[in-house]
Amino acid sequence: MAGMNKVFNNTLASLRALFPSKCLNCGMAGGYAGLCAECHGLVRMPGPNLCALCARPLDFTYEIDTGAEYFCGECRLDPPPFDAAMYALPYDDPIRKVIHAFKFSYSPYLAHPLAEMGNERLAPWLARRRGAVILPVPLHWRRLYWRGYNHAYLLASRLGRQAGLKVEEGVLRRTRNTDTQYGLTKKQRGENVKAAFAVKAPQMVAGRDIVLFDDIITTGATARECCKELWKAKPNSVTVAMLCKAGE
Ligand SMILES: [Zn+2]
Ligand SMILES: [Zn+2]
Repeated sequence: MAGMNKVFNNTLASLRALFPSKCLNCGMAGGYAGLCAECHGLVRMPGPNLCALCARPLDFTYEIDTGAEYFCGECRLDPPPFDAAMYALPYDDPIRKVIHAFKFSYSPYLAHPLAEMGNERLAPWLARRRGAVILPVPLHWRRLYWRGYNHAYLLASRLGRQAGLKVEEGVLRRTRNTDTQYGLTKKQRGENVKAAFAVKAPQMVAGRDIVLFDDIITTGATARECCKELWKAKPNSVTVAMLCKAGE
């Protein structure tokens, strides 16, 4: 059995190379990076007015250049366990279809175009955190084995390179193979990931600026749980970067 998933995954990759790529959104031939030019044009960017803590779009506008920071109502009532957050793309079609293929149908090559799309918003934000280390949200070893790659790491390594930040795998570990968060309520998501992470190399975290990275954040349950663990290792700051934010 050992290595069977790799053989299967390699076969899938070869099959895909034999057939011309189709747009993952509309099925038209000639798609680059999973999307045709037309569907690529449908990708939305987040608005300019975001909560300085959780990056949720604010329902009021303000003058961006004043340097003042604004927070959403939820963060004022219940601040999250991180210092700031930023995302690149709202999680809706056509991006949702590309991410789905990236994660669930062995398409590691999609990391490149997805990171390219994320760079516009994330690269300058990450570059301001000079000297910080990016920690991708880890997969449990069993899921990593079957999927063949950690999608968050593939994205983080590309975004980190662009911003000049180091990316470290293995500092944060998933100690429990949790159920998928799909289809769970906010409360269930929190319970599902409770005590599922551990900092395996606290010396890499102590006194440093940490950027936790994940591909999609829905309720933030996973990010909150990771951040709670990270703070125990006494970092200087913990911020959260995500490619996509759901529900925006
Ligand atoms: Zn298309
Ligand atoms: Zn907020």
